[in-house]
Amino acid sequence: MTMDWYWKSASEISAAVRSGVVSASDITEAQLRRIDEVDGRIDAYTQRWDDTARAMAAKVDKKASRGEALGPLAGVPVGLKELLCTRVGKTTCASKMLEHFRSPYDATVVKRLEAADAVFLGKVNMDEFAMGSSTENSAIKVTRNPWNLKCVPGGSSGGSAAAVSAGECAISLGSDTGGSIRQPACLCGCVGIKPTYGRVSRYGLVAFASSLDQIGPLTRTVEDAALTLNVICGRDEMDATSADLPVPDFTGALTGDVRGLRIGLPKEYFTEALSEPMRERIEQAVDAYRANGAEIVEVSLPCSEYAIAVYYIICTAEASANLARFDGVRYGFRHPEAKTMQDMYVMSKSAAFGPEVRRRIMLGTYVLSSGYYDAYYLKAQKVRALIKKDFDAAFEKCDVIAGPTSPTASFEFGAKSDNPLEMYLSDIYTISVNLATLPGISIPCGLTDAGLPVGMQLMARPFEEELLLKTAHFYEQNRGFDMGRPPIA
Ligand code: GLN
Repeated sequence: MTMDWYWKSASEISAAVRSGVVSASDITEAQLRRIDEVDGRIDAYTQRWDDTARAMAAKVDKKASRGEALGPLAGVPVGLKELLCTRVGKTTCASKMLEHFRSPYDATVVKRLEAADAVFLGKVNMDEFAMGSSTENSAIKVTRNPWNLKCVPGGSSGGSAAAVSAGECAISLGSDTGGSIRQPACLCGCVGIKPTYGRVSRYGLVAFASSLDQIGPLTRTVEDAALTLNVICGRDEMDATSADLPVPDFTGALTGDVRGLRIGLPKEYFTEALSEPMRERIEQAVDAYRANGAEIVEVSLPCSEYAIAVYYIICTAEASANLARFDGVRYGFRHPEAKTMQDMYVMSKSAAFGPEVRRRIMLGTYVLSSGYYDAYYLKAQKVRALIKKDFDAAFEKCDVIAGPTSPTASFEFGAKSDNPLEMYLSDIYTISVNLATLPGISIPCGLTDAGLPVGMQLMARPFEEELLLKTAHFYEQNRGFDMGRPPIA
């Protein structure tokens, strides 16, 4: 067996396991050795489930030996974000609040991956309760970017992106409320897709902002993103917001060309806010589409300038309601010195939530409080509707919208962590997609001179993931250069 199975794509791995070329157990062992080798420097994993991984792989191999058909993710090694409920291990949300929390059930996506014969390697790091853009808000540890260990992996699904990019798993599930799949995928040079709101069940995803949250995969290839979506998408009785729509075969959409496809470039996305290397690489990518017969049109999203303000009102409002349950009564940290009930609430929350989470709860409580509700929350909801209208108008002129995922490539630790506003600006290009409930994907489109990945974001109309994936796949196959691998041995 060759040693580099850990660099293979999920589709290659599952094809090899299904045809008996390699066993799921061999894949798992190769993958665990890879983690042994590099995770000391990356620190993507917060929990390693070596025994679980071996048992899951053995189960797949046993199934194969009985001649049973294997699932579409047979033997594929997966890392799960810390906020997905799993019966195995803990579900900490990278917070001291849930440091010891064990979920009594599996999230629907976790069950579906298991039913598709995937193998779970463990859980990966994130910003506490998914609030952040650098994974520096994790209460567990710091995760480093495999392309430059001095730099952040992005966030909040930073552990997912770093693990995929460093060959520490083939696919990882993340969650995206305002960019948390796409932005870390961009910063770590991998593919990350946020499906349409409602495409994937949120049952068992610890809620941050329920009207924005979606689960999605981070992968090294567009095909693997499609393959994973085939497994995790679809109606779920346990999530009333999950859409009752048929799930197409997303991998089947990855054919054909882009002739006649209309790609819209929002003029508001190509301003001074966008750093030079990002602009250059994205323009090159757009040129590649043009050269292959796509029609490039300018579109306008005039309300984009309000997106950050709207997002940080709505997401904090929803977060303050969702996080109210962590009060030390039913689950989560309870302060040992609290003597009265009031003390228990105050002391438990103060001690167990990090500064960013406390800031969001306070902001959210403020924008929902009587007297301020109309001025902030209600106003934000109205502007959210206008942002959605902008997209409706833009999609009259084009089929797919292209732009940057992030204003800059990855940055050094500490560069933005003292200034929350500056950190919030990292989300400028990703949050509108959540506010408008659209699908969005980030795909690698080159490196800066400093060797850091650049990502392009593509957006489509609701439930048009097929078109999105097809467009992304076309570029991936025809970009004319290799992204290479991060310089960790
Ligand atoms: N960076 C954004 C935030 O801090 C997005 C987070 C996310 O998508 N979970 O809220």
